[in-house]
Amino acid sequence: MKVEFYRHNIDNEDVGRIEGVLNSVFLTTGAVAGEFEERFSSYLDIPYAVGVTSCTAALHLSLVAWAIGAGDEVITTPMSFCATSNAILHAGAKPVFVDVEEDTGNINADLIEGAITERTKAVIPVHLYGRMCDMKKIRRIADKHGLVVIEDAAHAIEAERDGIRVGKLADSACFSFYATKNITSGEGGAVCVHDRDKAEILKMLRLHGIDKSAADRYTKQYRHWDMPFLGWKYNMDNLQAALLIGQLKRIDLLWERRKVLWDLYTQSLAGLDTVQLAGYPAAPRHAMHLFTVLVDGGKRDEILNELQKRGIGVAVNYRPIHLLKYYRDRFSYKSGDFPVAEAIGNRTISLPFYPRLSEDELTYVSDTLKSLIT
Ligand SMILES: *Cc1c(COP(=O)(O)O)cnc(C)c1O
Repeated sequence: MKVEFYRHNIDNEDVGRIEGVLNSVFLTTGAVAGEFEERFSSYLDIPYAVGVTSCTAALHLSLVAWAIGAGDEVITTPMSFCATSNAILHAGAKPVFVDVEEDTGNINADLIEGAITERTKAVIPVHLYGRMCDMKKIRRIADKHGLVVIEDAAHAIEAERDGIRVGKLADSACFSFYATKNITSGEGGAVCVHDRDKAEILKMLRLHGIDKSAADRYTKQYRHWDMPFLGWKYNMDNLQAALLIGQLKRIDLLWERRKVLWDLYTQSLAGLDTVQLAGYPAAPRHAMHLFTVLVDGGKRDEILNELQKRGIGVAVNYRPIHLLKYYRDRFSYKSGDFPVAEAIGNRTISLPFYPRLSEDELTYVSDTLKSLIT
C-alpha cells in the first residue's frame, strides 16, 4: 500500500471557480481576491484580512507595518518552521528564542518575561500542530511590556481556547495556504488585523508600497498612482483566491473529518507505552493540522526510514530552528540551548493526516507503526 503524506482537498467546484477566473479578464488581485478576504475575515470574526502570497510574507509585512526592524528583538519559539524566524530576519530584526512546553510544544509563556530586553518589540507565538497557545497570558505579558503580538497561525485557522478564537488577542494574525495546510492554494497566505489603518498599510506594503491596486487602476478607467513608501510583491491573486473560497466554505466539514481520523489514530495507538500522542483536551478547539507521535529518540530515524520503505509518507515537524546550520553559524546556538524543543525535535514523527485519508490507509499506518515499535 502507498499512503501519501498529504493530499489536497480541491474538488470539481473549486476547479469550476478557477475556470471562471481563467475565462475572465482579471487574473491578478481583484474582485475574487476581495471576496476571499471578506469571507476569511468573517470566518475568523476579525475585521480585516489582507491576502498575500505566503504566511512568511504575512509575518514579514506585519513586522514592517509595526515598524519593527534593525536593532529590535522579537521573541519566538524554536519549535516551528524556519519561516517564523526567517521573517524576523527579513525585517532586519533579531529572533530571540525561548523554550517550549513539554506537553504541547508551544512557546512556554512563563519564559517570555525572562527574555525581554530594552530592544524587545514583539512576540510571535506559533500554535503548534493547531493547538492554541495561552493567548490570554501572552497578551497580558505583552501589554505589561508594550510589545506587539503577532500570531503565526499557519496551523490554526479553526482553533479556539478559553473562549478565544485564533487572532482575537493579537495585533496581527498570519495564515498559510501552502500546499499541505488545512486549506490550500499551493502557495498563499493572509494577514488579519483589527485596525483599519494597519489594513490599508498592509495592502500597500504587499504591492510595492503603491497606493492603488491593479484593479483600482484598470477596472473602470486608468488612474495615476503614487508610491509613498517601498513595499514588496506579495499580493494574493484571483486564481489563488478562487481555489480557497470553496475550501473555506467547507472548512468546518474538513475539520470534522480530521477529528474522526484523529480519534481513530488515538484509539489504535493507545496503550503503546513507547509512543506518546499529542492529545487534544476538549476545551481548546484544536485545529488538528498535524497528527504527530513521539517515539524513542534513538530509534526515530530508523522508524522514519522503515515507514517510508513500507510506502508511508512521513515528515518531521520540527527539528528546532536554532540548530539549523544558518542559525548555529550566525547566532552561535548549540545543542542544549533549548532542551525541551530539542527533545521533541529528536522524537517526533508526523503521520499522514488529511480528510481524504481512508480508514483503511489509517489502519495500515498505525499497524505498521505498531509493528515497528513493539
Ligand atoms: C507553513 C508554515 C509557515 C510558512 O507558511 P508559508 O505560507 O509557506 O510561507 C510559517 N509558520 C508555520 C508554523 C508553518 O507551518
